[in-house]
Amino acid sequence: MDHVDVEKVLLARPRGFCAGVEMAIKSLTWMVRIFEPPVYCFHEIVHNKVVVARFEQLGVRFVNAISDVPAGSPVMLSAHGSAPETVECARRRSAVSVNAVCPLVTKVHHEVRVRSRRGSSIIYVGHKNHDEALGTVAIAPDSITLIETEAELDEMAEISGPVALISQTTLSMDDWAEIREQVIRKYPGIWMANKSDLCFATTNRQLAVRELSSRSDSVVVIGSENSSNTIALERTARKYGASHVYRVNGPFELPDDLVGVVGVTAGASAPEDVVEAVIERLNPKHGVDEILVSEEEEYFPPPPELRDILKVLTAAVSLALLCPRSDVMPTDNDSSSDASSILGKLLASLARSVQP
Ligand code: SF4
Repeated sequence: MDHVDVEKVLLARPRGFCAGVEMAIKSLTWMVRIFEPPVYCFHEIVHNKVVVARFEQLGVRFVNAISDVPAGSPVMLSAHGSAPETVECARRRSAVSVNAVCPLVTKVHHEVRVRSRRGSSIIYVGHKNHDEALGTVAIAPDSITLIETEAELDEMAEISGPVALISQTTLSMDDWAEIREQVIRKYPGIWMANKSDLCFATTNRQLAVRELSSRSDSVVVIGSENSSNTIALERTARKYGASHVYRVNGPFELPDDLVGVVGVTAGASAPEDVVEAVIERLNPKHGVDEILVSEEEEYFPPPPELRDILKVLTAAVSLALLCPRSDVMPTDNDSSSDASSILGKLLASLARSVQP
């Protein structure tokens, strides 16, 4: 691959994997190491083509219906959260079912459940057909109305009685602020969570890309087209002054004619080694300046079902004997190693093991 040879790169921090994605990827890595392939995953574990392709290489099969999982096979449910019926159906169908939902999505599910039980009508702002939105609406379908735009708010029938406003975790902060103001104007007494439903990873990455957008000739956002927070980064970069914004899955999708200062960021499901490969291809003459907005130290432990499996395994036999490649295994309380390198090491390890 030819170098693009730009002047300088401004690199957003934070960028890439968030704590929820780290947890989900480490958890699926555990499943791959523990069980014979295929391991099944309901929906893409995270919305990133590169990550999904790597897991497919490791023998994971991604399905969009639990009925596609052969009875008894191990299954993991994605980080975006699933409908209660799906969780239940997976439990019944599979001998081992692990729900890798991000705890911050679970928090939103909890809000929906509580508000619905208290008799509120819920306005939920999210992307239609996005896995997270579908899973959240399914918590209380009779109480919830999903809207995506202000026009849809205007078209909604007037609500009488208590109203709650809840959102998807990965919206653009600016889009959310606009629609939230409109909703509050229409329903002044509306209930909202004290802290926005937009998660820390979404807001931190957008604040970082705001910083570099006006200082860059172009901005490159690494991530897949079905990743909501990646699309929000693209929109934010445009809004805050970047005249050219390119979303790419990897270095091979970079335009050849980039010049000057290039801002680089990555959606919450994009691996760091892809960021490194993009920078390598950009080959900045004057190096890379990191634009630090905040440090992220959040860590989410593996799902309880997986922790239970690990306890049983540990009790049954020494983990070292069971897993000869323990050098590439995450631990059940592993906040020190990052998921991107764990997945890379596992692929390299498997590649070595199949060499003649
Ligand atoms: S983007 Fe936010 S809600 Fe989604 S997995 Fe990451 S931390 Fe969780």
